Amino acid sequence: MADLFEQVVNLCKRRGFVFPSADIYGGFRSTYDYGPVGVLLLRNVKEAWWRSMVQMRADVVGLDAAILSPPAIWEASGHLSNFTDPLVDCRRCHERFRLDQLDNPEICPNCGATDSFTEARQFNLMFKTNAGPVESDAAVAYLRPETAQGMFVNFKNVLDTSRKKPPFGIAQVGKSFRNEITPGNFIFRTREFEQMELEFFVPPEDGPRWFEYWCAERMRWYADLGIPDGSLRLRPHDVDELSHYSVATSDVEFLYPWGWGELEGIANRTDYDLRQHAEASGQALEYFDQASGRRYVPHVIEPAAGATRTMMAFLLAAYDVDEINGEERTVLRLHHRLAPYQVAVLPLSRKESLTPLAHEVLALLQQRWMCDYDETQAIGRRYRRQDEIGTPWCVTVDFDSLDDGAVTIRSRDDLEQVRVPIDALVAELTERLS
Ligand code: ATP
Repeated sequence: MADLFEQVVNLCKRRGFVFPSADIYGGFRSTYDYGPVGVLLLRNVKEAWWRSMVQMRADVVGLDAAILSPPAIWEASGHLSNFTDPLVDCRRCHERFRLDQLDNPEICPNCGATDSFTEARQFNLMFKTNAGPVESDAAVAYLRPETAQGMFVNFKNVLDTSRKKPPFGIAQVGKSFRNEITPGNFIFRTREFEQMELEFFVPPEDGPRWFEYWCAERMRWYADLGIPDGSLRLRPHDVDELSHYSVATSDVEFLYPWGWGELEGIANRTDYDLRQHAEASGQALEYFDQASGRRYVPHVIEPAAGATRTMMAFLLAAYDVDEINGEERTVLRLHHRLAPYQVAVLPLSRKESLTPLAHEVLALLQQRWMCDYDETQAIGRRYRRQDEIGTPWCVTVDFDSLDDGAVTIRSRDDLEQVRVPIDALVAELTERLS
């Protein structure tokens, strides 16, 4: 299984999914850049989330809030005092560790010293910076460590402008930053990452029911996009694990090569955040139900997922090696909605006589789907390359195409090849991709 992890990391670099940041300078501390196919996969993960959480619902609206934010937000949310991890130093080798992640809190995993750790101290994970040209306390700003607070501080703005009323949600996808003590496992834990979060506002008494609803809904999303049953589970938190704002949390977990780990946290945040911000800002953050004359502070159910971490889970789940004609083939069995390219157009040869028709086919398909175009190397090697980046269908334009106006569609998963008239190509692929 550990092998699988290495193979996927290797594939990511080799095929242009993920590169170490500042690679030519030797990389930069667990930060990563998403390459030509990685950016497409990541966009598709976020798009699939947005589609299910916003586009397909009448009760959720979107938001894109600022990353730079004033201390007031984090003071009120509790992050300035509570968003910490326990940090210990090894007195012998001076490495630092997150206490709760040590296999054995008595032994330093770096130098093997026993009883060498300092007392744990609480290390705040927020990145602090200055906004403007003056470095002073008044200029302090933070990079958001979660997107959620953007939804709470805009609750009134959204309520006043969107004509929504509880139960309704505000969804956001975007970057978050945490100064993790021990980032690692590739893009599983990084200091800069992307989140996909929904804050769903409900009448207080309906909180538990909606919590159950969102747990089920989110499990379905991962399963629908191809995470196998045996690699997915929902794990309720013990009471002593709960965050300072939560009365109930369940994690959606994935079976990573190193064991079960979080993909997404679903929390019942109650009215904690709205009350905190109302008190700190002096603004009423509540809902007045005209029909019943009832005024209340909604409770919030929050499904909070990581886009980059989820992308990694999809890659791990999709990675497969099979055999074709006695030869090993690496294939990413990604759901077609997630695959970087839905279609690759491959002229059989680079001969000039084929190029115009191949370009015509490409132009036809590009309007609808993300397409790759590749005319170098032997066709077999080009198929392998498309298999490795997860392209579900290749369309091959050959010399017969010039006479019969037809092309071959080749399927990634069952390798089936069918001849289709170019006139019918869009309809055929639409059906396969629906
Ligand atoms: P963990 O326990 O793994 O540190 P968390 O419980 O602090 O995560 P949340 O605050 O619930 O995480 O954030 C929601 C989601 O954001 C997580 O489930 C994860 O997918 C993603 N996430 C959080 N921290 C990171 C990180 N450092 N790198 C990548 N993704 C992250």
